[in-house]
Amino acid sequence: MVSIHHLGFPRIGAQRELKFALESYWRGESERAQLLAVGARLRQQNWQRQADLDLQSVGDFSFYDQVLDASLLWGVLPARARRPGAHLLDDYFRAARGRSADLAEGVAAGQMTKWFDTNYHYIVPEFSADSEFHLQPDLYLAQVREAQQQGHRVKAVLIGPVTYLYLGRGGDAAARAALLPRLLPLYQDLLRQLQELGVAWVQMDEPALVTDLEDCWWRAYDQAYSVLPAAGPQMLLSTYFGGVGEHYQRICRWPLHGLHIDAVRAPEQVALWAAVWPKDRVLSLGVIDGRNIWRSDLSALLDRLEPIHAERGERLWLAPSCSLLHVPVDLRSESGLDPELKSWCAFAQEKLEELQILAQALRSGRAAVAAQLAAADQALAARRSSPRVHDASVAAALREMATLRQQRHSPFAARSQLQQARWPRPLYPTTTIGSFPQTEEIRAVRSLHRRGEIDTAEYTRQMQAQIAHCVAEQEKLGLDILVHGEAERNDMVEYFAEFLQGFAFSSHAWVQSYGSRCVKPPILFGDVRRPAPMTVAWAQYAQSLTDKPMKGMLTGPVTLLNWSFVRDDQPRATTCLQLALAVRAEVLDLEAAGLPIIQIDEAALREGLPLRRKDWPAYLDNAVAAFALAAHGVDDATQIHTHMCYSEFGDIMESIIAMDADVITIETARSAMQLLDAFDTLHYPNDIGPGVYDIHAPNLPSDEQIEELLRAAGRRIPADRLWVNPDCGLKTRRWPEVLPALATLVRVARRLRQEAVAQPALV
Ligand code: GLN
Ligand code: ZN
Repeated sequence: MVSIHHLGFPRIGAQRELKFALESYWRGESERAQLLAVGARLRQQNWQRQADLDLQSVGDFSFYDQVLDASLLWGVLPARARRPGAHLLDDYFRAARGRSADLAEGVAAGQMTKWFDTNYHYIVPEFSADSEFHLQPDLYLAQVREAQQQGHRVKAVLIGPVTYLYLGRGGDAAARAALLPRLLPLYQDLLRQLQELGVAWVQMDEPALVTDLEDCWWRAYDQAYSVLPAAGPQMLLSTYFGGVGEHYQRICRWPLHGLHIDAVRAPEQVALWAAVWPKDRVLSLGVIDGRNIWRSDLSALLDRLEPIHAERGERLWLAPSCSLLHVPVDLRSESGLDPELKSWCAFAQEKLEELQILAQALRSGRAAVAAQLAAADQALAARRSSPRVHDASVAAALREMATLRQQRHSPFAARSQLQQARWPRPLYPTTTIGSFPQTEEIRAVRSLHRRGEIDTAEYTRQMQAQIAHCVAEQEKLGLDILVHGEAERNDMVEYFAEFLQGFAFSSHAWVQSYGSRCVKPPILFGDVRRPAPMTVAWAQYAQSLTDKPMKGMLTGPVTLLNWSFVRDDQPRATTCLQLALAVRAEVLDLEAAGLPIIQIDEAALREGLPLRRKDWPAYLDNAVAAFALAAHGVDDATQIHTHMCYSEFGDIMESIIAMDADVITIETARSAMQLLDAFDTLHYPNDIGPGVYDIHAPNLPSDEQIEELLRAAGRRIPADRLWVNPDCGLKTRRWPEVLPALATLVRVARRLRQEAVAQPALV
């Protein structure tokens, strides 16, 4: 008989209980014991939710991050975070965020980065050639015992050793892979202890297997998985976020007891594994989408699963594709979505229920769950044919797309001159990325308006006052190209999604982003259309206040897509083009309203890059096409900017060039060296503003720092194509920081400008 399990469950709690408990502990408002009790309660609830599954996962709970948990387990929290005599949990929080609950001096927080291609951030393990590992299994094993005492059949979850080393930093890949022999005996020791506790299965997460791996990692995999499966409980190797079919010969050689594959992201590998994976080993199929919120097509799944089940019987397991960490907890606590939309969704809890229906159908025949299957079919049919999802006018617009101009009239050099004639810009033009500090006052006004406590006229008046203040400050600073400051925007995606048809907003669909932080991505469920302008009135008002050129600010289609839950009933590329059409309409309206410059932010473009290089071209081609569709309908004299939150675009430079923005601003202040490397080898042909003020740090940049960065940039980028701007938006900073930092930026730009005028040969 088929078994069902899951790879991990959200630990933040349906009401974000863990978030509130953590933050209260860190503020010193509650005791450690209270925090530990909340953790225990959440684990208990989560195990209760999966009581009807065949195995209960242990080890997927975390007080901050599962990768940092591994660093604790293997005794490699950075030395700076460890205090003699301190509780391990406090060392752990110091490693994560620089400080725990104590008031003592903080330390440097751990570096955070995205977990594969998700929006979850993990704390990067810090290794060096002399890293020494020590098994610290107490907290982990305590959870195993805790589950056993509650009567659960434990499947212990661990990050596999190769993925763990792969995710760290300190040394190159080979140096990190070379640490494996030090780590393996500890894994063996822990596996032995799990076996002694009577644990039947261990799940080894090795998502690194779905990436493009250097040989050193393959050697590490062979080494690890030739010995680990024999060391303790039966071992299920779990892979997700992509396919591993091309490595089947190698993986089949490892003496594993089971293999989990992602049947949602890489459905094509199912038939292969069904054919090649030995019948006496478990094949776990991740058939329920662990990355998205839509209800599954259970009947279609059964069509595919029944023949595999007939062959494999109890050696077939079913699960979500990956950990459910990436979806919200429970649809039942959701009050923001209407009943119809809700009926199309499945959050983590509902996904477990879907598994149960599948299992029952396979065990006892579809008739045993006829009602549940019918309900699922019906919801799906309703979604497929819903007029809320399908808008004929959007489909028609997409069909007509080819008739729209998606290329600027003239090449960059000619445009640049026309733009210069329209509003002469000096050498080293200064500007910002868009947002200015989101003060308490701004947030208060927005929330009063949301709650209906002030009317729209009053809200508009107050926001205009904020814009006026922001514009006046920029004029005083002497910036060359101004922005309105984005006071009206809570978030650069949500703001636009609220205007667009095809998006819905949940009340509780929180997903952990990092530590105690959660995000509530908009739900893109239907054809996207822009019923009315979204930003024009604010931008126009801002322009009316100044003679300087004002920049209209928009979020680009790829970023809107990457930071939402996206419909799964059509290719993402199609949805992206729909978003592009909506942004295009806004761009043209801004242009018609007289804005001479329009910036389209693609903050999330690079982070959305697929894990495998072979998938890059399709993604990048779509991203470039979407940007072109959004941006290139304008006249030559309208200047298009884009902004991206990174500097490492060496390997996607061709696509960035193909986007053909007149100006690109990027984040570089913190990585001056990287900037230099990129521009030594690559030629970016249009204007570029490498960020010279690191807005992520509270420190103020000095004249010397900014000047040094600009001079460094100037050695690679001709002065007449170099812009001067911060790294990113200023919304998280405070005015008292922003004003002096921007004053410095303007002062240095002016100095270089004068120098260039006096000694043109040096430019
Ligand atoms: N225009 C946005 C801002 O300034 C860009 C934010 C971002 O790149 N993440 O806030
Ligand atoms: Zn940015």
